[in-house]
Amino acid sequence: MPNSLDQVIRPEILDLLPYHVPSSFGMVKLDAMENPYSLPKTLRDEIAQLAATISLNRYPDTNADLLKSSLRGAMEIPAGMDIMLGNGSDEIIQIVALALARPGAVLMSVEPAFAMFRMIATFTKMEYIGIPLKANFSIDLDAMLTAIDKYQPAVIFIAYPNNPTGNLFDAEAISRIIESAPGVVVVDEAYHAFADTSFMSRLTQHPNLLLMRTLSKLGLAGLRLGLLVGRPEWLTQLEKLRLPYNVGVMTQVVVRKVLQHSDILRQQTDAIKAERVVMSECLEALDGVEVFPTAANFILLRVNEANQVFLELKKRNILIKNLDGSHPLLRNCLRVTVGTPDENKQFLWALQALITKLTN
Ligand code: PMP
Repeated sequence: MPNSLDQVIRPEILDLLPYHVPSSFGMVKLDAMENPYSLPKTLRDEIAQLAATISLNRYPDTNADLLKSSLRGAMEIPAGMDIMLGNGSDEIIQIVALALARPGAVLMSVEPAFAMFRMIATFTKMEYIGIPLKANFSIDLDAMLTAIDKYQPAVIFIAYPNNPTGNLFDAEAISRIIESAPGVVVVDEAYHAFADTSFMSRLTQHPNLLLMRTLSKLGLAGLRLGLLVGRPEWLTQLEKLRLPYNVGVMTQVVVRKVLQHSDILRQQTDAIKAERVVMSECLEALDGVEVFPTAANFILLRVNEANQVFLELKKRNILIKNLDGSHPLLRNCLRVTVGTPDENKQFLWALQALITKLTN
């Protein structure tokens, strides 16, 4: 007789709730920070032709040198820094945690932050410490420095801009954290395309800084490509944990092709940034809605009855993210991704109608 599952599977895995991705079929999908625009037909045709030439019977290039050199140019990666690729940046977080998960090692972040930081700490048996942000979602530098001193974290993850709050933390506060950290600090720039600032140029100043980016929010979420940039001494060790063929041949070829048309990606991100302003202003004009500043492609808002608003929007086929209950600072908070002007209008009209109904 085999043992029962709970005698075999690690208890912390049995206790985990699965990462829930709601079905979005037929919905106005404003829940996952995707770029709402598709690529122009001419470029899609070029991609189709290219796809026809790929040797699907062969494994992909494990080093992906051509892709890395395209990324190096497109992202202005400083000379002397290496690149490690991941199947999405989620996978990179996991590789970093796996490498640093000595017994008792701490993975630190702020709270609220990207949920995967905590989840991956659990996957890899690291101890997770989350330091609460201030009520306005700025970083509590004193609390962070005290916690760094106390817990000596092996790694600190800081998303810049932060998800789910959307704001940029003070760059000097992050630098102080990097300087005080005994281990490595990963600045996660998943939303870099929508912010006008980056830690990329600071890589040369800080020996323990690693910088993470993703192509997901730029319009290529379906291809799953993330990258980590940093000093060769770190990346050589992390590379040992990367599974050899984690970035498929289709991803390698298509990303290279799309990066040759970076003007298209820039036009799309500019359109999203312009719509973000329109949407924030419309939301601010609504009674009973508090809108938080954002440097990302989503907006965090607080309403009076978040659960009800979320469910009623869902009934109207509009899917956003309900954050109520996920952290005390996010009481009655909702997160909406900036979509196309038409999608945003549908959301705003539905929200306005609901708020009027709920307050009468
Ligand atoms: N970092 C942050 C802050 C995110 O919000 C996300 C996705 N929501 C990711 C990393 C992971 O993105 P991906 O795996 O698609 O690269």
